[in-house]
Amino acid sequence: MSAEPEPGEARRPAFTLLGSGGWIPTQRRETTCGLLSLPEALFIFDAGTGLSRMLEPRFREELAGSREVHLFLSHYHLDHVVGLFYLPGIFRGTAVHLHPPAADITGRDPEAMLATVIGKPFSPHGIGEMPLELLIEPLGGGSHQVAGMNVAVRRQQHADPSAGFRVDDLLVFATDTTSDEETAAFARGAALMVHEAWIDGIEEEDPETEHIAREAYVAHTSARQAAALAAAAGVGRLVLNHLNPLRGDGYHRQMLASAQKIFPATAIVEDGEWLEL
Ligand SMILES: [Zn+2]
Ligand SMILES: [Zn+2]
Repeated sequence: MSAEPEPGEARRPAFTLLGSGGWIPTQRRETTCGLLSLPEALFIFDAGTGLSRMLEPRFREELAGSREVHLFLSHYHLDHVVGLFYLPGIFRGTAVHLHPPAADITGRDPEAMLATVIGKPFSPHGIGEMPLELLIEPLGGGSHQVAGMNVAVRRQQHADPSAGFRVDDLLVFATDTTSDEETAAFARGAALMVHEAWIDGIEEEDPETEHIAREAYVAHTSARQAAALAAAAGVGRLVLNHLNPLRGDGYHRQMLASAQKIFPATAIVEDGEWLEL
């Protein structure tokens, strides 16, 4: 649906998860990568293995035309940055604005972090020497104008701090974060909230499994918690992201059912499935 619009036809904002999994890519779910297709720009959230789907013709055509490409990074865990290594193959001939989280979010210098991830001997090129036009523009907490859109950034608690993003009233992208009431305030009234969900949350209720919840909540969120945040925020829709690759479809279906009891407009989507905004 989000092919080049016919002349005179306006491009409608749409979102897809090119990678809806966390940690380890599977046949079905690559690791985290969100694609927001806007009239004037392409916004990509995280460079997990899902970024590789940009090579598929249906997503390659998103690069046709002259829209600006902006790639936002939530944090530096490898399942969110491995795709930086793919950039020259995917974006040759296209300028990419890369927005790592600034030091006020992570406590780490973004240029140094990128040089660590993409540098010899792990990569044939340093981050600044890759054969593509890469503009490194870190984003700190607060509001920013990016390609004519208002992009708000906030610090989230994770194993290492991460950045959460809001694009106007269209999208909130919050992954690799504990459940935080501030996320609900941040997401108030947004059309779509994409939030991580690592476990169901039922684990809390049984002494046999309570340790699973306790360990997860140090860095992650349950489906039930994500749904409660979506309900508190009054968002239009919730999509669960960063699904645990060690859990099967049955468990993910259970997560969805648990979340829908709290917030009916919750979905789990397949990689590459477009949602109109
Ligand atoms: Zn992750
Ligand atoms: Zn992480």
